[in-house]
Amino acid sequence: MKRIAVFDSKKYDESSFAPYLKQYEFAFFKDKLSLHTVILAKGFDAVMCFVNDDLSKDVLDKLSEFGIHAVFLRCAGYNNVDLAAAYKNKIHVVRVPAYSPYAIAEHAFALLLSLNRHIHKAYIRSRDFNFNLDGLTGFDLHEKTVGVIGTGKIGRVFIDIAKGFGMHVICYDPYPVKDSDYEYVSLDDLYTRSDVISLHCPLIEANRHMIDKKAIEKMKKGVFIINTSRGGLIDSKALLEGLKEKKVGAVGLDVYEEEANLFYKDNSLKIINDDVLSLLIQLPNVIITSHQAYLTHEALDNIAKTTVQNMDEYFGGSFIQNELCYHCEKNKDPQACYHARAKRCF
Ligand code: NAD
Repeated sequence: MKRIAVFDSKKYDESSFAPYLKQYEFAFFKDKLSLHTVILAKGFDAVMCFVNDDLSKDVLDKLSEFGIHAVFLRCAGYNNVDLAAAYKNKIHVVRVPAYSPYAIAEHAFALLLSLNRHIHKAYIRSRDFNFNLDGLTGFDLHEKTVGVIGTGKIGRVFIDIAKGFGMHVICYDPYPVKDSDYEYVSLDDLYTRSDVISLHCPLIEANRHMIDKKAIEKMKKGVFIINTSRGGLIDSKALLEGLKEKKVGAVGLDVYEEEANLFYKDNSLKIINDDVLSLLIQLPNVIITSHQAYLTHEALDNIAKTTVQNMDEYFGGSFIQNELCYHCEKNKDPQACYHARAKRCF
């Protein structure tokens, strides 16, 4: 039976992979994969990783040295993987491209609704029998303009939800959906016209800090910014400044650029050495969740099912349909090749 080292695993991973224990032997490690923990992978046939595992060159070199040539990501995003190093080491990197776009889009909307109607504040007040309504006024989402950055699987579900609320939707995507009735605009237009901006694009080097000081300057005063994609898309310091200057009206983050050593852990008894995060968290118009937008029963079941399918394909020697490859990244088009090719990358 093939043995898989599962990094950054949570209790729910053990539950969702339990139906597959007859097919694979899983060792669930709570530690994230890093240069310090990679030794744990020695002797296994493959590793299974998540959003904050370190799959940089040095770690991939070690995996290859241990004879491991497959990394199974339990996620869609792969900004934590050095694909060039993976390719050089002949390591196949396979992801779960879709497991529930609804889970993430609904969470993005939950952040938006909570921030706008101050649910997080009202909840705390009413638990204290404080039924005062001062400061809790929101606005109708109906007829407001929402700018959606990235109209892939999640962005499209988000658009459907926004339309259900009667919002006017404008979009930006370098690869627009063909034959859609979406109103695509330039990024600058999106910044200047949107009351709410929601990010649904992958993080690549070219769009790191796409929401920076300059972008925020272009936005409407009071804009709401929702990020359920990747923390690195936003320059957090610029975001904090925007909030302090009241240019940004509210922020909902499920991801944060420095989340790797904080999220998924109980840090409540620690001193947090991240002043930007500490300041963001204490603002009344900011809600931060712990990269949990994917966390629905349906999504977890789908992640386990697709990951096992990916493993079956890899170990079975067939075409690995969800494999990432170096060439796609080189072409700067994350979707460019794996639909087109019908064989393994190498
Ligand atoms: P997808 O591949 O279906 O869609 C991504 C879209 O973004 C594509 O249409 C692509 O053309 C577009 N895009 C690429 N570069 C862009 C850019 N610079 N500006 C604007 N658009 C750009 O992906 P998806 O399934 O919709 O997921 C989107 C992102 O959501 C993922 O990349 C991942 O980072 C994030 N995500 C977060 C969670 C979570 O739990 N918070 C879970 C899953 C995915």
